[in-house]
Amino acid sequence: MRVGLIGGGPSNLFLAWLLRNDADLYLIEEDSRLGLPMHCTGLVSERMAIALGLGGRVVDNYYSSLTITNSLNSKGVLLRFTGNRIVMLNRPGLEEYLYGRASFKGIHMGIRVTEVGRGGVVRGFGGFERSYDIVVIGEGARNVLSRITLGTRLNTVSGVQADGYSQYLKGMVNDEHHIVVLFGKHYSGRFFTWIVPRGDGEFRVGVVDDPSVVGLRFRKIISELGLSPRRIFGGRVVLGASSVNYGQGSVAAVGDSTGITKSLTGGGIVTGMLTSLILARVLHEYWGVGDPIAEYSRALGGTLGRLARAYSALSSMLYSNVTVAEGALREFDGVEVNVPDYDNHMDALIRLLMARPKLGLTLIKYAPSLNISTINLRDLVTALF
Ligand SMILES: Cc1cc2nc3c(=O)[nH]c(=O)nc-3n(C[C@H](O)[C@H](O)[C@H](O)COP(=O)(O)OP(=O)(O)OC[C@H]3O[C@@H](n4cnc5c(N)ncnc54)[C@H](O)[C@@H]3O)c2cc1C
Repeated sequence: MRVGLIGGGPSNLFLAWLLRNDADLYLIEEDSRLGLPMHCTGLVSERMAIALGLGGRVVDNYYSSLTITNSLNSKGVLLRFTGNRIVMLNRPGLEEYLYGRASFKGIHMGIRVTEVGRGGVVRGFGGFERSYDIVVIGEGARNVLSRITLGTRLNTVSGVQADGYSQYLKGMVNDEHHIVVLFGKHYSGRFFTWIVPRGDGEFRVGVVDDPSVVGLRFRKIISELGLSPRRIFGGRVVLGASSVNYGQGSVAAVGDSTGITKSLTGGGIVTGMLTSLILARVLHEYWGVGDPIAEYSRALGGTLGRLARAYSALSSMLYSNVTVAEGALREFDGVEVNVPDYDNHMDALIRLLMARPKLGLTLIKYAPSLNISTINLRDLVTALF
């Protein structure tokens, strides 16, 4: 089986690791180095990193707690991770590690793919043309090949972040293993701002918002926080999809290109690797004896896809109502809860409500102000019940 992998991100490289003994693998990546340009913060749950075979090998730092607040001067809500810490993966270290575990028959660096035709034909700049039995689109959040070939339409916002030093932040966030999430219109009208210590007094500060305003927001925030950037990077964050097609014929999508992410935070490393795990399993089981891509689509359309769509609907509800959510957050100022699993946002929310049951009732007052016009209620209801 000849498999052409478009894009050398973590999803396709993990797939290559898993398929190393099952297929002849060909990597096509538009950049001249894997993992560059950088775009990602790299936060994932430690347990999932271990489960996916990463262990501590590519971990830069770990975090035992996180505060969500609307100002650095308020206490906000403190989440303590009791059983499952957050870790910051090194990127491009992650890509290099996965690449080292894979085995390729052919590698085409510096080739941008422009077209994926039926029958597994892949064309790119410079007259590149090859054909494969299976083609896997792992182009990240770009949504060009996945839209043209499969009809997927991703919902994305833009993120910009910087690594740098700040005396002000050093005074405010004096625990190297604590993350601060700033939530509210003052920071972002569409998402949130994060302050993540990297160790040795350095911070990674970022914000996500609509592409037209994110640059302005970012400059304002780093100036307010007194951050001198050593490097600035970013990209598109996937919050879901308005229509999806995980694969058909001989073409499948993995990672961000499927629209499956943890849309409340925009995290897509783990979910992307999970899509690859499923694709590797079905290719292993059904190659030559069935239709692996159809099986893959069915598998993703099940629990993982439904959960992703539910979280995407929740995420659009939260982020279309930043002012309302900010008011609700104020009610919880000073609350501290233990959260056993960073990945389970619903559990964290329930624990928060359980910590102050009366506040749960108070929150009802915010219901009439909710703007639900942008929410896909059908996705939310069918996925959750
Ligand atoms: C600001 C920001 C912060 C983030 N923070 C986190 C976080 O803390 N935790 C987390 O889990 N996720 C985070 N993410 C999301 C995370 O980066 C992605 O979910 C993840 O990288 C997706 O992996 P992937 O393999 O699907 O695609 P990518 O990592 O995007 O890789 C795609 C690859 O395909 C290549 N490519 C694209 N088009 C073509 C083409 N036409 N031809 C050839 N090559 C092509 C690209 O060069 C790239 O190498 C963040 C994203 C952003 C933008």
